[in-house]
Amino acid sequence: MTNSGSLAASTATVDAMLDELVEIRRGVAALQAREAAVLSRAVEVARAHADVPGPSKVRDIPMRSMAAQIGAALRVSDRTVQRQLSDALVLTERFPATWAALAAGEVSRAHVRVIVEAGLPIEDDGARAVFQEAALEVARRETPGRLKPAARLLAARLHPVPLEERHAVAARGRSVWVRDLDDGMAELIATLPAHLAHGIRDRLDQHARRVIDARGTGAAEGDGTLFDEPAVQDRRGIDEVRADVFADLLLTGHATPEVSNASMPEAEAIVAHVQVTVPVLTVLEADTTPAELTGHAPIDTATALRLAGTATGWDRVLTHPVTGTVLAVDRYRPSDQLKRTLRVRDEHCRFPGCRIPVRRCDIDHTTAREHDGPTEISNLAHLCRRHHTLKHHSAWRVRQTPDGILHWTSPTGRRYPDRPARTLVFVPDTGSDGDALDGGSGRDAPF
Ligand SMILES: [Zn+2]
Repeated sequence: MTNSGSLAASTATVDAMLDELVEIRRGVAALQAREAAVLSRAVEVARAHADVPGPSKVRDIPMRSMAAQIGAALRVSDRTVQRQLSDALVLTERFPATWAALAAGEVSRAHVRVIVEAGLPIEDDGARAVFQEAALEVARRETPGRLKPAARLLAARLHPVPLEERHAVAARGRSVWVRDLDDGMAELIATLPAHLAHGIRDRLDQHARRVIDARGTGAAEGDGTLFDEPAVQDRRGIDEVRADVFADLLLTGHATPEVSNASMPEAEAIVAHVQVTVPVLTVLEADTTPAELTGHAPIDTATALRLAGTATGWDRVLTHPVTGTVLAVDRYRPSDQLKRTLRVRDEHCRFPGCRIPVRRCDIDHTTAREHDGPTEISNLAHLCRRHHTLKHHSAWRVRQTPDGILHWTSPTGRRYPDRPARTLVFVPDTGSDGDALDGGSGRDAPF
C-alpha cells in the first residue's frame, strides 16, 4: 500500500512531530520552573509584611491576602494558591537542583513531584543534595512511575532515623475506615504495613484471574439441556471481580461458590506472594541499608527478615557494587536459575516506562531463536503481552548488551535504553575500582 518514498516521508513527519512535542514539553517545564520562582518571590513579599508580633491568626494574614490576590487574578481559589505557594517555596528553597533540572526541561513536573515527596523527610541539606543528584540521574531517563520506588529507596538510605523506628511509629497509625460515596457506594480504606497491603492485593488479583480464566472454559456447558438454568454470561471486568472476591473473603471467610467450586478446588489454596530484597550485609547486621518490597518501597529490616524466616528458599543475588547490575543468582535448583536471575534482574516488563510485574510477563528472546539467538541471560528479557506484541508486529527494534540494558529503537530511529530496575538506585561512585562483588538476597515470601 505504501511505497518507500511515502514511507520515508511519513517517517520524517513523525520524527518532526516528536521533536516538536519534546520541545513543547521542555518549554512547559521551563515555564513551570519560572512560575515557581515568581510564587516563591510572592511568599518572600508576604513574609516581609508578616514580621509583626501578634497571635498566629493575625501573623498569617499577609500570606492569605497574597494568596487571595493571586487567586483573584488567575481565577483560582485562594486555598489552592496557598498550597501552590508552599509547594513553590519547598521546591526553590529545599530542592534547588531539582528546580534547575525542571527549568532546563530535563525533567517534568510529575518527576519533580515524586522527588520532592520522597526527599521531603530528609532534614539535612547535604543529605538532601546527595539524594537529589541520585534521583535526578534516574528521572532523566525513566518515567515518574519507575522513578518512584527508586527515589523512595534512595531517600530511605539517606534518612537519619532508621526505617525500623519510623515504621514502628507509622504502624501505630494502621486503620480501617469507610467513606460514603454517592449512588449507594462507599469506599473501604485500610492503611496497612506495605507488605500486607501488596500481599492482599496480589491474592485478590490471583483469585480474580482464576475466575476470569475459568469462565472462558465452562461457558458452553448447560446449553440445550431442558432443566438447566439458562447460562448467564459473566461479563464482570477484572476490577469488579477483584472487588467481589474481596467482599466475599471478608464477609464469609472464603471466596463465593463460583470461585471455589469443583472446577476450581485450588482457589482456596491461592497464596499471596510478595518479593523482598534484603542486602546481605543488613542480614549480617553489618550495615543498615534497608530491605525493599521489590518494585514498591523500602520496608523495615525486621519485617523483611521475619518474612524471610518462612521462605522455602533464598536467591543469592550478586550485584555490581557500583552500577548495581545483577551479575548472578544462586539457587538450589539450577534448572530454574536462569528464570530466577531474569526475574530478579527485570522486576517488570522491559519496554521503556512499563511496570507490569514479571509474574504477568512473557520471557522473550531479544534475538529470536530462528535467528540463532541463544537462551541465555544476555538474550532474554521479560515483556508484557502488550509490548511483546508490539515488538513482533511493529517497526520497534531491540538489542541487548551484557549489562542487561535493552537498547530500543523506535520506528523513526530514536533510541531508548532501558536499564534493569536494580541498577536505578545506585549512586555513581567514581572512586571505586569496581571489581568487588556485593551480595544481596531476594526471595519470594508466601504468607
Ligand atoms: Zn510492558
